[in-house]
Amino acid sequence: MKIYNLTLEECFKSLRSRPQGLDAQEAGRRLQEFGPNEIPLGSRTSLARRFLRGYTHLFALILWVASGLAFLVHSWEPQQNMATLGCAILGVVVVNGIFSFWQEYRAEKAIAALRNLLPRKVKLLRAGHVLQANAAEIVPGDVIQISAGDQIPADCRLITAFGVRVNNATITGESLPHSRDTAPCHDASPLRHRNLLLAGTWLISGEATALVFATGSHTEFGRIAVLTQSANEPMTPLQYEIARLSRIIAWISLAIAVLFFGVGEALGLPRWQNLVFAIGILVANVPEGLLPTVTLALAMGSQRMARRNALIRHLPAVETLGSTTVICTDKTGTLTENALVVREVFIPGQGGTQNTAPATALRFLECARNCQNLQELDAHTLLGDPTEIALVHMAKAAAPDAAEYPRIDEISFDSERKRVSTLHRVQGGLRLYTKGAPEAVLPLCNAVETPSGPEAMAAAKRRKIEYAHQTMTKKGLRVLALAFRSVEAATPRDTLEHGLVFTGLVGLEDPFRPEVPEAIRKCRSAGIKVIMVTGDHPETALVLAKQIGLVVSETPSTITGPELQLLSPAQLQLALDAPELIFARVAPEQKMQIVDVLKRKGHVVAVTGDGVNDAPALKHAHIGIAMGRTGTDVARESSDMILLDDNFASIVGAIEEGRAIFSNVRKFLTYVLTSNVPEFVPYMGFALFQLPLALTILQILAVDLGTDLNGT
Ligand code: ADP
Ligand code: MG
Repeated sequence: MKIYNLTLEECFKSLRSRPQGLDAQEAGRRLQEFGPNEIPLGSRTSLARRFLRGYTHLFALILWVASGLAFLVHSWEPQQNMATLGCAILGVVVVNGIFSFWQEYRAEKAIAALRNLLPRKVKLLRAGHVLQANAAEIVPGDVIQISAGDQIPADCRLITAFGVRVNNATITGESLPHSRDTAPCHDASPLRHRNLLLAGTWLISGEATALVFATGSHTEFGRIAVLTQSANEPMTPLQYEIARLSRIIAWISLAIAVLFFGVGEALGLPRWQNLVFAIGILVANVPEGLLPTVTLALAMGSQRMARRNALIRHLPAVETLGSTTVICTDKTGTLTENALVVREVFIPGQGGTQNTAPATALRFLECARNCQNLQELDAHTLLGDPTEIALVHMAKAAAPDAAEYPRIDEISFDSERKRVSTLHRVQGGLRLYTKGAPEAVLPLCNAVETPSGPEAMAAAKRRKIEYAHQTMTKKGLRVLALAFRSVEAATPRDTLEHGLVFTGLVGLEDPFRPEVPEAIRKCRSAGIKVIMVTGDHPETALVLAKQIGLVVSETPSTITGPELQLLSPAQLQLALDAPELIFARVAPEQKMQIVDVLKRKGHVVAVTGDGVNDAPALKHAHIGIAMGRTGTDVARESSDMILLDDNFASIVGAIEEGRAIFSNVRKFLTYVLTSNVPEFVPYMGFALFQLPLALTILQILAVDLGTDLNGT
């Protein structure tokens, strides 16, 4: 029987696993047997082939010809001893080939080392405990937990699924989402099995646990990947320009050499002299070492950036970074610590705001306790969204024995909905808990919880809540509204969030990262504009912006998502001229819109993102920056650079490195190109006016080899 036909029980049996997962010993044994969950890199151009390539490209060929000519002259005029020169040129070709190869090899090693800096993590269930492990350690029979934005690490069968939708584009090329559930199915093609998640595809919404049945190259993706792998990186714009420039110089010197040979012949100078002259021009002008040197400079630069917590995924980003003129940055986690603490709560009917939640606010605390997606690593460590961790801590402190109800469904959070709902089985029925941005939750509430049960939400009550919301945001707090409702079993999923009962507001504080004000100051003095783009409330955003020095004037512009929707592209383009600008309550696709307009204004745009929906903005920007700690796999895969510490200051550090690399490469280029001219001029004198040679060809070779290869 195929895995997708089986019932869950049979699946576990056939893979000799249990819902609690394998134990460590058995997992270790299986890792030995099945090997790590990795797809081996396919065959690439062999080292020998690449070594030989160093002797067959244009410059090498020109030098081969030059040395051939030297030997030719020697055979005509042995007394000139041109064989020495021929040998010297040969020597240059060989040494150059070795050096270039070595430089490329080093560059490649440097970039490969970066890839290993950020291994992909998955949540595994082993002997009933959740733990975070490297994706490579997964074995068949493992139970894994996956949430929206994760890349599926291995082929697996769903055990539980809440609102699961996948994107199979990596395997089928088709990017429409498909929903998935746990029931056995009987379709023939693995891509259509509704109960399977395939390695390399993406979970774009929902929450799931799944049983792994194939890893590494045994997965569907592994089979395809081995066939279609192409590991060669495209050249960066700079590399491309250098390669082109080098080629142009080479052809020009070839042309000049031929021209002067012709002129010499026409003037009736001895042929051997004309040839020596042509050889001199070639040797002096062919820019052998340029490209490998620049490549190495970029690779080494990306290594320096990694030491400053900026991991470059594509070499072109190293260059683009240096010319960044605008950074669009997230707030939570990038500018702030993402270490949230509940500072204030507002419970209707209990006066104004308070510092701690009263134990009597039963439904409020239940919502804080239950409406979350955290994993308990051990009694003290919770894994997941810091906002939810803060709420659970608050609930546990106020009511240590508040009930935790089994969750049976979930409508997950995304930055568009700005709320999350979970459905739980409680005594005598079902209950939905919802929490999220007040703007996203309050409109769904038609009642307010009181000690004697829900009461209709009168206009005065709504105003009171809104007032409390305002006072909290003015203090810079991130405010969430908590609500619930009782649910009949037959309620359809899309009306679950209707008619909620409001229970209270929570105001969370998130301190800014201490390095950020200095980084903002650096940006300002370097002429880089920083624009905050957040899903949070405009007031909360503004208070933070003032704290970190992003806003110093009295009249900064704040534009909210709904306002942005009303702006025409031209209006937005003009709005972006404001010196101090904050976007708040924006949806991820609006982020992309902002990026596009900034690009149209001629800016080089860097943008940060962490969620599933941030992928388009990350792709559209010149530099897409994903979060290494909190970001989703989707965001990381769409990015050019990953912040290992999620810190805004690291972006600024990387830009500094990028600028340094650029100016080094420029100095090096100027040096090489100008050193070719002084080498060349004496030859003109020699040829045209019979002046003695200032530098012999041998000396030129020595100088060239030295300068071109030591540019890093
Ligand atoms: P940002 O990261 O820019 O602060 P997000 O898009 O992450 O914004 O969140 C937008 C809003 O969604 C937040 O201001 C908050 O009101 C709400 N929110 C964030 N996280 C959660 C969560 N775990 N559950 C419910 N609502 C949330
Ligand atoms: Mg966020």
